[in-house]
Amino acid sequence: MKNIAVYCGASTGTDKSYQVGANKLGKWIVQNNYGLTYGGGSYGLMGTIADSVLENGGSVHGIITQKLFDRKLAHTGLSKLDILPTMNQRKEAMLNDSVACIALPGGPGTLEEMSEAFSWTIIGEIEQPCIFYNINHYYDELESFFDSMTEKKFLDPKARQTLLFSDSLDEIGQFITSYTPPKLRKYTK
Ligand code: AMP
Repeated sequence: MKNIAVYCGASTGTDKSYQVGANKLGKWIVQNNYGLTYGGGSYGLMGTIADSVLENGGSVHGIITQKLFDRKLAHTGLSKLDILPTMNQRKEAMLNDSVACIALPGGPGTLEEMSEAFSWTIIGEIEQPCIFYNINHYYDELESFFDSMTEKKFLDPKARQTLLFSDSLDEIGQFITSYTPPKLRKYTK
C-alpha cells in the first residue's frame, strides 16, 4: 500500500475547523486507498488524523522518537509503530515510507518538516509532492511568503508551481497523481 505522510500540530489549535479538516483528510486517505504515515503521537491534530484513518478502517504507521515514546506521547492503537533514536532518523523514515507529504495546520514542528521536504525536492533528494492543506485560510500568509520569495528570486517560479496550497481534497488528489518533481535547481553567480 502507498502511504501519505501527514505533518501536523501536536495541538488542536483554536478553531474547530482544523479538527474537522483532519477528520476529512483521514477519511479521504482511506477512500483513496492510501495508508497514513505520521509522527506517531496521540495529542492534537496528530491524534485526530490517526484516529480518523483507523476509524475508517485504514492503516496507520507511526514513527516516533525514543524520547517522545518514553514520555508516553505515542498513540497506543496504531497498525504499526516504529521507535527511532533521533528526529533526523524519524523524518528520513517518514519520507522513505510515503508517496506524498501533506500538512494540516500546525506549529514550528510541522513547518520545519514540510520546509525540509519541499527544499529536498528542489535539489533532487526526494520526489514526493508537498501540499499544504489550507483549512480555513490557516496557511494564507505562508503561501504569500512563498510567492514573495519567488518574486524576489529566491525560489524558481517553476519550483514554486510544484508546491500546492489548497483547501480542496479533490484538487490535492489530482495534484498527487499528476505531479512531476521540479527540475534540478540551477545556480548563477
Ligand atoms: P508542532 O507543529 O510544533 O506542534 O509539532 C508537531 C511535530 O513535532 C510533529 O510532526 C512531530 O514531529 C513533533 N512533535 C511535537 N510534539 C509531539 C508529540 N507530543 N508527539 C509526537 N510528535 C511530536
